[in-house]
Amino acid sequence: MKKLRFAALCLAGMLCLSLCGCTERIVERQSFALDTFISVKIFSGGDEEDAEAALQRVDACEQLLSAHRAGSDIDRINTSGGEAIPVDELTERVMRGAMELSMLSGGALDVTLYEVSKLWDYKSDSPRVPTDEEIARALAHTGMERITLKNHAVTAEGVKIDLGAVAKGAIGDEARKILQQEGVRSALLNLGGNIITLGDKPGGSGWVIAIDDPNGEGTVGMLRFTGSMAVATSSGAQRFFTVGDKTYHHILDPETGCPADSGLASVTILAPDGLTADALSTAVFVMGEDKAREMFAAHGFAEMEISAVLVRADGTVSLLGDADFTEN
Ligand code: AMP
Ligand code: MG
Repeated sequence: MKKLRFAALCLAGMLCLSLCGCTERIVERQSFALDTFISVKIFSGGDEEDAEAALQRVDACEQLLSAHRAGSDIDRINTSGGEAIPVDELTERVMRGAMELSMLSGGALDVTLYEVSKLWDYKSDSPRVPTDEEIARALAHTGMERITLKNHAVTAEGVKIDLGAVAKGAIGDEARKILQQEGVRSALLNLGGNIITLGDKPGGSGWVIAIDDPNGEGTVGMLRFTGSMAVATSSGAQRFFTVGDKTYHHILDPETGCPADSGLASVTILAPDGLTADALSTAVFVMGEDKAREMFAAHGFAEMEISAVLVRADGTVSLLGDADFTEN
């Protein structure tokens, strides 16, 4: 009888430990890369070494994909004068993804806007609005059709590449792969607001991500999901400058070379992978709600577990796909 009671107590103890997850230690590591703060939080199945390995992968990817790192794949393409440049398997994959999503978005995503972005120098201490002539001249050096991907080499004829709209998401995917290979069961990566999850959050509550209010302080609501997913937000409030009473943000309409003015203040995309989430958040911000809704329907995005939370300029919220979103 005593033995039975002891066994029952042990069983109850084990059940309690596994239910509350008390046996797991949460590990967190942070760094600065991709011009932003990066954090890796492991909830289950990993240690500091795994978190460091993920951060190192972020650095290695930046060294390949940044247009501003001398000797990166993108820098070599941009300074090649139109030669075919053999690239790393990751660069090839990211370029292929960007080209595909550019096509699906009717050109709203355009990773050849380097020269136009440079004109709108948001990082300068005294940014200015470029003249129409300057914009027209820079636009003459853009166009996705001038990029070719063949035999693991990229050719960019008369255009320069800027992967700013897709790199954080794509690099998040790579960091998640490292954690997965190391046997991590549950983790959350944050690359300057681009969120990548691995597995489920222990405790069964699911992942909950707050979406910033692009028109003011605080948040507009909460996005909930489970499993390995990615969340990216493009917002006019993330990077901008003001001249007089007019605000100029960093997401450009490839047609005009000027900040996109589609009636949306922010776009948050939930997708299984970071590259898709990041590329689509930028694309939808440029396209606007109606065209984005058409794109979602035409390509079956909802069936691919892709959804969106759109915050309009007037502050109202609209959803695409099956986003589980609770407004404040
Ligand atoms: P995101 O914050 O992901 O929307 O990306 C914005 C960044 O991508 C900008 O800072 C530019 O470097 C670049 N960019 C701006 N407009 C576009 C566009 N229409 N397509 C692709 N990249 C863009
Ligand atoms: Mg993006």
